[in-house]
Amino acid sequence: MSEISSHHGARASRSRLPSKRFLATAFATLVAAAPTARGDPADDPSTAAADAIHKRVLTLDTHVDIPFEFMSPQADPGKPSKLQVDLPKMREGGLSAAFFVVYVGQTSRTAENYVQARLGAETKFAAIHKMVETYPDQIELARSAADVTRIRASGKLLALIGIENGFVIGKDINLLRHYHDLGARYFGLVHAGHNDLGDSANPVSWLDKGPEHNGLSPLGRQAVVELNRLGFIVDISHASKETSMQAIELSRAPVIASHSDVGALNPIARNLDDETLEALARKGGVVQIVAFDSYLWVGVVAKHKAQEALRREYGIDDPFAVGNLPPDKAAEYFRRLLALDQVWARTDVKRLVDHIDYAVKKIGVDHVGIASDFGGGGGIVGWKDASETYNVTRELARRGYSEGDIAKLWGGNLLRVLANVEEIAEKSRD
Ligand SMILES: [Zn+2]
Repeated sequence: MSEISSHHGARASRSRLPSKRFLATAFATLVAAAPTARGDPADDPSTAAADAIHKRVLTLDTHVDIPFEFMSPQADPGKPSKLQVDLPKMREGGLSAAFFVVYVGQTSRTAENYVQARLGAETKFAAIHKMVETYPDQIELARSAADVTRIRASGKLLALIGIENGFVIGKDINLLRHYHDLGARYFGLVHAGHNDLGDSANPVSWLDKGPEHNGLSPLGRQAVVELNRLGFIVDISHASKETSMQAIELSRAPVIASHSDVGALNPIARNLDDETLEALARKGGVVQIVAFDSYLWVGVVAKHKAQEALRREYGIDDPFAVGNLPPDKAAEYFRRLLALDQVWARTDVKRLVDHIDYAVKKIGVDHVGIASDFGGGGGIVGWKDASETYNVTRELARRGYSEGDIAKLWGGNLLRVLANVEEIAEKSRD
Protein backbone atom coordinates (compact mmCIF):
# COMPACT_ATOMS: atom_id res chain seq x y z
CA MET A 1 0.00 0.00 0.00
CA SER A 2 2.77 2.35 -0.94
CA GLU A 3 0.33 4.69 -2.59
CA ILE A 4 -1.53 5.37 0.60
CA SER A 5 1.59 5.72 2.68
CA SER A 6 3.23 8.18 0.32
CA HIS A 7 0.00 10.09 0.07
CA HIS A 8 0.33 10.68 3.77
CA GLY A 9 4.00 11.47 3.68
CA ALA A 10 5.32 8.27 5.27
CA ARG A 11 8.54 6.79 4.09
CA ALA A 12 8.31 4.45 1.14
CA SER A 13 10.05 1.68 3.09
CA ARG A 14 6.89 1.28 5.16
CA SER A 15 4.83 0.85 2.06
CA ARG A 16 3.93 -2.79 2.62
CA LEU A 17 2.24 -2.18 5.91
CA PRO A 18 -1.53 -1.69 5.87
CA SER A 19 -2.28 1.83 6.87
CA LYS A 20 -4.43 1.53 9.95
CA ARG A 21 -3.36 5.04 10.85
CA PHE A 22 -4.99 6.36 7.71
CA LEU A 23 -8.27 5.07 9.07
CA ALA A 24 -7.43 6.44 12.49
CA THR A 25 -6.63 9.93 11.25
CA ALA A 26 -9.77 10.02 9.19
CA PHE A 27 -11.90 8.86 12.11
CA ALA A 28 -10.23 11.28 14.50
CA THR A 29 -11.13 14.15 12.23
CA LEU A 30 -14.71 13.03 12.09
CA VAL A 31 -15.13 12.30 15.78
CA ALA A 32 -13.64 15.70 16.56
CA ALA A 33 -16.68 17.22 14.92
CA ALA A 34 -19.12 15.24 17.08
CA PRO A 35 -20.95 16.88 19.96
CA THR A 36 -19.43 16.22 23.39
CA ALA A 37 -20.53 16.20 26.99
CA ARG A 38 -18.74 19.47 27.67
CA GLY A 39 -22.05 21.17 28.08
CA ASP A 40 -22.41 19.51 31.50
CA PRO A 41 -22.94 22.18 34.13
CA ALA A 42 -19.59 22.60 35.87
CA ASP A 43 -21.30 23.38 39.15
CA ASP A 44 -22.99 19.96 39.27
CA PRO A 45 -21.65 18.55 42.55
CA SER A 46 -21.63 14.97 41.25
CA THR A 47 -19.50 16.08 38.30
CA ALA A 48 -17.10 17.87 40.61
CA ALA A 49 -16.85 14.79 42.84
CA ALA A 50 -16.19 12.56 39.82
CA ASP A 51 -13.54 14.96 38.53
CA ALA A 52 -11.83 14.91 41.93
CA ILE A 53 -11.73 11.09 41.83
CA HIS A 54 -10.44 11.27 38.27
CA LYS A 55 -7.50 13.42 39.41
CA ARG A 56 -6.65 11.11 42.31
CA VAL A 57 -6.61 7.74 40.53
CA LEU A 58 -4.05 6.45 38.06
CA THR A 59 -5.78 6.61 34.69
CA LEU A 60 -4.11 4.10 32.39
CA ASP A 61 -5.25 3.61 28.79
CA THR A 62 -3.90 0.27 27.54
CA HIS A 63 -4.12 0.89 23.83
CA VAL A 64 -2.92 4.01 22.00
CA ASP A 65 -1.74 3.48 18.43
CA ILE A 66 0.95 5.67 16.94
CA PRO A 67 1.62 6.48 13.29
CA PHE A 68 4.96 5.65 11.67
CA GLU A 69 5.70 9.40 11.59
CA PHE A 70 5.22 9.70 15.38
CA MET A 71 7.70 12.27 16.78
CA SER A 72 8.20 13.87 13.37
CA PRO A 73 7.11 17.52 13.04
CA GLN A 74 3.79 16.29 11.59
CA ALA A 75 3.01 14.15 14.63
CA ASP A 76 4.82 15.58 17.63
CA PRO A 77 3.03 14.53 20.84
CA GLY A 78 4.89 17.20 22.81
CA LYS A 79 2.86 19.91 21.10
CA PRO A 80 -0.82 20.40 20.44
CA SER A 81 -1.31 18.07 17.46
CA LYS A 82 -3.81 16.19 15.35
CA LEU A 83 -3.00 13.04 17.33
CA GLN A 84 -5.84 11.83 19.55
CA VAL A 85 -3.24 11.37 22.30
CA ASP A 86 -0.52 13.96 22.82
CA LEU A 87 0.96 15.30 26.04
CA PRO A 88 -1.18 18.46 26.19
CA LYS A 89 -4.36 16.39 25.63
CA MET A 90 -3.29 13.87 28.28
CA ARG A 91 -2.90 16.68 30.80
CA GLU A 92 -6.14 18.38 29.76
CA GLY A 93 -8.17 15.18 30.07
CA GLY A 94 -6.36 13.85 33.13
CA LEU A 95 -5.00 10.75 31.39
CA SER A 96 -1.98 9.75 33.49
CA ALA A 97 -0.60 6.87 31.50
CA ALA A 98 -0.83 5.13 28.17
CA PHE A 99 0.50 2.03 26.51
CA PHE A 100 1.82 3.36 23.21
CA VAL A 101 1.50 0.55 20.73
CA VAL A 102 4.02 -0.90 18.33
CA TYR A 103 1.67 -2.20 15.65
CA VAL A 104 2.44 -3.61 12.27
CA GLY A 105 -0.20 -4.89 9.89
CA GLN A 106 -0.36 -8.48 8.75
CA THR A 107 0.92 -9.19 5.26
CA SER A 108 1.76 -12.44 3.51
CA ARG A 109 4.45 -14.38 5.36
CA THR A 110 7.54 -14.04 3.21
CA ALA A 111 11.15 -13.54 4.29
CA GLU A 112 11.03 -10.02 2.91
CA ASN A 113 7.85 -9.15 4.79
CA TYR A 114 9.28 -10.49 8.07
CA VAL A 115 12.13 -8.01 7.63
CA GLN A 116 9.66 -5.21 6.83
CA ALA A 117 7.56 -6.04 9.88
CA ARG A 118 10.60 -5.94 12.14
CA LEU A 119 11.76 -2.64 10.62
CA GLY A 120 8.27 -1.23 11.16
CA ALA A 121 8.39 -2.26 14.80
CA GLU A 122 11.87 -0.79 15.28
CA THR A 123 10.67 2.52 13.81
CA LYS A 124 7.84 2.74 16.34
CA PHE A 125 10.02 1.73 19.30
CA ALA A 126 12.51 4.42 18.29
CA ALA A 127 9.72 7.02 18.07
CA ILE A 128 8.40 6.19 21.56
CA HIS A 129 11.93 6.33 22.99
CA LYS A 130 12.46 9.64 21.23
CA MET A 131 9.29 11.00 22.85
CA VAL A 132 10.49 10.27 26.39
CA GLU A 133 14.02 11.48 25.58
CA THR A 134 12.74 14.72 24.06
CA TYR A 135 10.31 15.52 26.89
CA PRO A 136 12.01 14.00 29.97
CA ASP A 137 10.44 16.45 32.40
CA GLN A 138 6.93 15.66 31.12
CA ILE A 139 6.76 11.93 30.47
CA GLU A 140 8.79 8.86 31.41
CA LEU A 141 8.87 5.28 30.16
CA ALA A 142 7.78 2.71 32.75
CA ARG A 143 9.31 -0.75 32.41
CA SER A 144 7.76 -2.29 35.51
CA ALA A 145 4.84 -1.98 37.90
CA ALA A 146 7.22 -0.39 40.42
CA ASP A 147 8.24 2.17 37.78
CA VAL A 148 4.60 3.11 37.32
CA THR A 149 4.18 3.86 41.02
CA ARG A 150 7.44 5.82 41.19
CA ILE A 151 6.80 7.92 38.06
CA ARG A 152 3.21 8.58 39.08
CA ALA A 153 4.46 9.98 42.39
CA SER A 154 6.79 12.33 40.50
CA GLY A 155 3.80 13.97 38.81
CA LYS A 156 5.00 13.12 35.30
CA LEU A 157 2.91 11.43 32.65
CA LEU A 158 3.68 7.78 31.96
CA ALA A 159 4.42 5.90 28.79
CA LEU A 160 4.40 2.14 28.55
CA ILE A 161 4.84 0.05 25.42
CA GLY A 162 2.69 -2.74 24.02
CA ILE A 163 3.13 -4.78 20.86
CA GLU A 164 0.22 -5.49 18.55
CA ASN A 165 0.70 -8.40 16.16
CA GLY A 166 3.17 -11.20 16.77
CA PHE A 167 4.09 -10.86 13.10
CA VAL A 168 6.90 -8.57 14.33
CA ILE A 169 8.89 -11.66 15.37
CA GLY A 170 8.19 -13.60 12.18
CA LYS A 171 9.37 -17.06 13.24
CA ASP A 172 12.19 -15.89 15.49
CA ILE A 173 11.30 -16.46 19.15
CA ASN A 174 14.58 -14.78 20.17
CA LEU A 175 13.19 -11.45 19.06
CA LEU A 176 10.82 -11.51 22.04
CA ARG A 177 13.75 -10.83 24.35
CA HIS A 178 14.91 -8.02 22.08
CA TYR A 179 11.50 -6.32 22.15
CA HIS A 180 11.25 -6.82 25.91
CA ASP A 181 14.65 -5.15 26.25
CA LEU A 182 13.26 -2.22 24.23
CA GLY A 183 10.58 -1.81 26.89
CA ALA A 184 7.51 -3.62 25.55
CA ARG A 185 5.43 -5.16 28.33
CA TYR A 186 2.49 -6.72 26.53
CA PHE A 187 2.47 -8.77 23.39
CA GLY A 188 -0.61 -9.06 21.17
CA LEU A 189 -0.35 -12.46 19.51
CA VAL A 190 -2.15 -11.59 16.28
CA HIS A 191 -3.99 -8.83 14.41
CA ALA A 192 -6.42 -9.09 11.50
CA GLY A 193 -5.17 -12.09 9.51
CA HIS A 194 -3.57 -15.27 10.81
CA ASN A 195 0.17 -15.28 11.48
CA ASP A 196 2.79 -17.87 12.39
CA LEU A 197 1.72 -17.83 16.05
CA GLY A 198 -1.99 -18.39 15.74
CA ASP A 199 -5.37 -17.69 14.22
CA SER A 200 -6.99 -14.27 14.17
CA ALA A 201 -10.57 -13.44 15.09
CA ASN A 202 -10.68 -11.71 11.70
CA PRO A 203 -9.15 -13.79 8.92
CA VAL A 204 -8.39 -11.64 5.89
CA SER A 205 -9.75 -13.04 2.67
CA TRP A 206 -6.71 -12.21 0.52
CA LEU A 207 -4.43 -13.96 3.05
CA ASP A 208 -6.46 -16.66 4.74
CA LYS A 209 -8.79 -19.47 3.78
CA GLY A 210 -10.58 -20.47 6.97
CA PRO A 211 -8.80 -21.39 10.20
CA GLU A 212 -5.12 -22.23 9.80
CA HIS A 213 -3.82 -23.50 13.15
CA ASN A 214 -7.15 -24.01 14.96
CA GLY A 215 -5.79 -21.80 17.73
CA LEU A 216 -2.12 -21.44 18.61
CA SER A 217 0.52 -22.96 16.34
CA PRO A 218 3.41 -24.92 17.93
CA LEU A 219 5.48 -21.72 17.52
CA GLY A 220 2.68 -19.74 19.18
CA ARG A 221 2.75 -22.13 22.14
CA GLN A 222 6.50 -21.67 22.37
CA ALA A 223 5.97 -17.90 22.29
CA VAL A 224 3.52 -17.98 25.22
CA VAL A 225 6.04 -19.96 27.30
CA GLU A 226 8.80 -17.49 26.43
CA LEU A 227 6.55 -14.47 27.14
CA ASN A 228 5.89 -15.88 30.63
CA ARG A 229 9.61 -16.42 31.14
CA LEU A 230 10.50 -12.88 30.08
CA GLY A 231 7.79 -11.12 32.08
CA PHE A 232 5.74 -10.04 29.07
CA ILE A 233 1.93 -9.92 29.42
CA VAL A 234 0.19 -12.13 26.84
CA ASP A 235 -2.52 -10.13 25.01
CA ILE A 236 -5.38 -11.96 23.26
CA SER A 237 -7.13 -8.98 21.61
CA HIS A 238 -7.67 -9.77 17.90
CA ALA A 239 -7.08 -13.50 18.51
CA SER A 240 -9.69 -16.09 17.57
CA LYS A 241 -11.62 -17.72 20.38
CA GLU A 242 -9.57 -20.92 20.03
CA THR A 243 -6.29 -18.99 20.13
CA SER A 244 -7.50 -17.01 23.15
CA MET A 245 -8.68 -20.02 25.13
CA GLN A 246 -5.49 -21.96 24.39
CA ALA A 247 -3.27 -19.02 25.34
CA ILE A 248 -5.16 -18.50 28.61
CA GLU A 249 -4.93 -22.21 29.38
CA LEU A 250 -1.23 -22.47 28.55
CA SER A 251 -0.01 -19.25 30.17
CA ARG A 252 1.36 -19.58 33.68
CA ALA A 253 0.62 -15.89 34.31
CA PRO A 254 -2.53 -13.77 33.95
CA VAL A 255 -3.45 -12.82 30.39
CA ILE A 256 -5.11 -9.63 29.16
CA ALA A 257 -7.24 -8.45 26.28
CA SER A 258 -5.66 -5.01 25.82
CA HIS A 259 -8.59 -3.62 23.80
CA SER A 260 -11.72 -5.74 23.36
CA ASP A 261 -15.42 -5.52 24.09
CA VAL A 262 -18.16 -7.84 25.31
CA GLY A 263 -19.51 -10.41 22.85
CA ALA A 264 -22.81 -10.79 24.72
CA LEU A 265 -23.62 -7.14 23.93
CA ASN A 266 -22.23 -7.15 20.40
CA PRO A 267 -21.59 -10.65 19.09
CA ILE A 268 -18.73 -10.12 16.65
CA ALA A 269 -15.67 -12.39 16.47
CA ARG A 270 -13.42 -9.56 17.65
CA ASN A 271 -15.20 -9.36 21.06
CA LEU A 272 -14.94 -11.82 23.98
CA ASP A 273 -17.84 -14.16 24.70
CA ASP A 274 -18.78 -15.07 28.26
CA GLU A 275 -16.74 -18.28 28.26
CA THR A 276 -13.59 -16.41 27.26
CA LEU A 277 -14.24 -13.63 29.78
CA GLU A 278 -14.65 -16.22 32.54
CA ALA A 279 -11.48 -18.08 31.56
CA LEU A 280 -9.56 -14.79 31.49
CA ALA A 281 -10.79 -13.90 34.99
CA ARG A 282 -10.09 -17.38 36.42
CA LYS A 283 -6.46 -16.89 35.35
CA GLY A 284 -6.39 -13.51 37.13
CA GLY A 285 -6.44 -11.49 33.93
CA VAL A 286 -8.17 -8.34 32.74
CA VAL A 287 -10.34 -7.34 29.79
CA GLN A 288 -9.69 -3.72 28.85
CA ILE A 289 -13.02 -2.52 27.46
CA VAL A 290 -12.33 -0.38 24.39
CA ALA A 291 -13.94 2.81 23.06
CA PHE A 292 -14.19 1.47 19.53
CA ASP A 293 -17.50 2.27 17.86
CA SER A 294 -18.12 -0.89 15.87
CA TYR A 295 -16.92 -3.23 18.66
CA LEU A 296 -19.26 -1.58 21.16
CA TRP A 297 -22.30 -1.47 19.02
CA VAL A 298 -23.59 -3.41 16.08
CA GLY A 299 -25.24 -0.15 15.07
CA VAL A 300 -28.17 0.26 12.83
CA VAL A 301 -28.52 -2.38 10.16
CA ALA A 302 -28.86 0.27 7.50
CA LYS A 303 -25.46 1.73 8.38
CA HIS A 304 -23.81 -1.66 8.19
CA LYS A 305 -25.42 -2.35 4.85
CA ALA A 306 -24.22 1.01 3.56
CA GLN A 307 -20.65 0.28 4.82
CA GLU A 308 -20.68 -3.13 3.18
CA ALA A 309 -21.99 -1.74 -0.07
CA LEU A 310 -19.23 0.87 -0.04
CA ARG A 311 -16.57 -1.78 0.60
CA ARG A 312 -17.95 -3.84 -2.27
CA GLU A 313 -17.94 -0.83 -4.57
CA TYR A 314 -14.21 -0.27 -3.86
CA GLY A 315 -13.36 -4.00 -3.86
CA ILE A 316 -12.30 -4.01 -0.20
CA ASP A 317 -12.47 -7.32 1.71
CA ASP A 318 -10.99 -6.34 5.02
CA PRO A 319 -12.84 -3.78 7.15
CA PHE A 320 -9.53 -3.02 8.92
CA ALA A 321 -7.54 -2.08 5.84
CA VAL A 322 -8.03 -0.55 2.45
CA GLY A 323 -6.61 -3.28 0.25
CA ASN A 324 -4.66 -2.09 -2.75
CA LEU A 325 -6.48 1.11 -3.55
CA PRO A 326 -4.48 3.94 -5.09
CA PRO A 327 -4.26 7.02 -2.85
CA ASP A 328 -6.95 9.10 -4.50
CA LYS A 329 -9.40 6.19 -4.42
CA ALA A 330 -8.52 5.39 -0.79
CA ALA A 331 -9.09 9.01 0.22
CA GLU A 332 -12.39 9.04 -1.60
CA TYR A 333 -13.41 5.76 0.07
CA PHE A 334 -12.65 7.14 3.54
CA ARG A 335 -14.48 10.37 2.85
CA ARG A 336 -17.56 8.38 1.93
CA LEU A 337 -17.14 5.97 4.85
CA LEU A 338 -16.93 8.87 7.30
CA ALA A 339 -19.94 10.52 5.76
CA LEU A 340 -21.91 7.48 6.90
CA ASP A 341 -20.94 8.28 10.50
CA GLN A 342 -22.58 11.65 10.03
CA VAL A 343 -25.82 10.05 8.92
CA TRP A 344 -25.75 7.44 11.70
CA ALA A 345 -23.87 8.80 14.73
CA ARG A 346 -21.05 6.94 16.47
CA THR A 347 -21.81 5.44 19.83
CA ASP A 348 -20.99 7.16 23.12
CA VAL A 349 -19.46 6.85 26.58
CA LYS A 350 -22.71 5.45 27.99
CA ARG A 351 -22.41 2.42 25.76
CA LEU A 352 -18.73 2.01 26.70
CA VAL A 353 -19.79 1.87 30.33
CA ASP A 354 -22.61 -0.57 29.45
CA HIS A 355 -19.85 -2.97 28.35
CA ILE A 356 -17.86 -2.25 31.51
CA ASP A 357 -20.99 -2.89 33.62
CA TYR A 358 -21.67 -6.18 31.87
CA ALA A 359 -18.08 -7.40 32.32
CA VAL A 360 -18.01 -6.31 35.98
CA LYS A 361 -21.22 -8.20 36.69
CA LYS A 362 -20.01 -11.27 34.81
CA ILE A 363 -16.40 -11.59 36.05
CA GLY A 364 -15.96 -9.02 38.81
CA VAL A 365 -14.53 -5.53 39.11
CA ASP A 366 -11.00 -6.96 39.59
CA HIS A 367 -10.92 -8.18 36.00
CA VAL A 368 -12.02 -5.17 33.95
CA GLY A 369 -10.16 -2.13 32.65
CA ILE A 370 -10.36 0.62 30.03
CA ALA A 371 -8.73 1.31 26.67
CA SER A 372 -9.31 3.82 23.88
CA ASP A 373 -7.63 2.49 20.71
CA PHE A 374 -7.01 6.15 19.91
CA GLY A 375 -4.93 6.39 16.78
CA GLY A 376 -6.22 3.00 15.67
CA GLY A 377 -9.87 3.75 14.98
CA GLY A 378 -10.99 4.34 18.57
CA GLY A 379 -12.95 7.36 19.66
CA ILE A 380 -16.62 7.75 20.56
CA VAL A 381 -18.96 10.60 21.33
CA GLY A 382 -17.83 11.97 24.69
CA TRP A 383 -14.35 10.39 24.48
CA LYS A 384 -13.11 11.58 21.12
CA ASP A 385 -9.50 11.98 22.30
CA ALA A 386 -7.41 12.02 25.48
CA SER A 387 -8.61 15.53 26.40
CA GLU A 388 -12.07 14.12 27.20
CA THR A 389 -10.95 11.25 29.41
CA TYR A 390 -12.71 12.70 32.47
CA ASN A 391 -16.08 11.90 30.84
CA VAL A 392 -15.45 8.18 31.34
CA THR A 393 -14.96 8.64 35.08
CA ARG A 394 -18.05 10.87 35.27
CA GLU A 395 -20.17 8.11 33.74
CA LEU A 396 -18.65 5.46 36.06
CA ALA A 397 -19.40 7.66 39.07
CA ARG A 398 -22.92 8.33 37.81
CA ARG A 399 -23.51 4.56 37.74
CA GLY A 400 -22.45 4.24 41.35
CA TYR A 401 -18.88 2.93 41.12
CA SER A 402 -16.89 3.81 44.22
CA GLU A 403 -13.49 5.51 44.06
CA GLY A 404 -11.86 2.18 44.91
CA ASP A 405 -13.59 0.44 42.01
CA ILE A 406 -12.84 3.31 39.63
CA ALA A 407 -9.16 3.06 40.62
CA LYS A 408 -9.18 -0.66 39.82
CA LEU A 409 -10.90 -0.14 36.46
CA TRP A 410 -8.63 2.74 35.47
CA GLY A 411 -5.32 0.94 35.98
CA GLY A 412 -5.18 -0.81 39.35
CA ASN A 413 -6.14 -4.15 37.83
CA LEU A 414 -3.70 -3.85 34.96
CA LEU A 415 -0.88 -2.95 37.36
CA ARG A 416 -1.72 -5.99 39.48
CA VAL A 417 -1.42 -8.17 36.37
CA LEU A 418 1.89 -6.58 35.38
CA ALA A 419 3.32 -7.12 38.87
CA ASN A 420 2.09 -10.70 38.88
CA VAL A 421 3.59 -11.40 35.46
CA GLU A 422 6.93 -9.95 36.64
CA GLU A 423 6.85 -12.10 39.77
CA ILE A 424 6.17 -15.30 37.83
CA ALA A 425 8.97 -14.46 35.40
CA GLU A 426 11.40 -13.85 38.24
CA LYS A 427 10.55 -17.17 39.86
CA SER A 428 11.07 -19.00 36.57
CA ARG A 429 14.62 -17.57 36.40
CA ASP A 430 15.57 -18.88 39.87
ZN1 LIG B 1 -6.27 -3.41 17.56
